[in-house]
Amino acid sequence: MEDGLKITQRLDKLADENKKATVSIINKTISRDEAVIHLFQEIADRIQNPGGLSYRNRIIRLAQTETQGAYRLTQKNIGEDSSYVEGIKWNLSPHHPHNDHYEICERYAKENHDGLGTGVYKPENLPDIPHPGCFCFLTYLYNNL
Ligand SMILES: [Zn+2]
Repeated sequence: MEDGLKITQRLDKLADENKKATVSIINKTISRDEAVIHLFQEIADRIQNPGGLSYRNRIIRLAQTETQGAYRLTQKNIGEDSSYVEGIKWNLSPHHPHNDHYEICERYAKENHDGLGTGVYKPENLPDIPHPGCFCFLTYLYNNL
């Protein structure tokens, strides 16, 4: 992702947001004079909820996105350095959602960008990971030797 943030800054930002949200839950619970069990439930939900944007899910999403980004950058670098690789094909993840609109990953996977075929980029033109949680994958298009 190209928003200028480094991984440590992202982690610090997430930790800060989680700390503020936890303090807010504590203050809210105290002001309502609720039972302590409500406090524990709300904090546990905030941190571990398997659905939604809990702290846990955001950390996992960050780790997955950064890992995907690093893996793709490596594939791109190998493709640029190899005399056998003509292009890199952008493949939609089997879990890609079927939205009503034409989404950026679909554009990457379905358009002919560099005259090499559907979804295929010259290695030097391969775009960065377009959004957090993108599970599209790349395959090489080898030249005919
Ligand atoms: Zn994608």
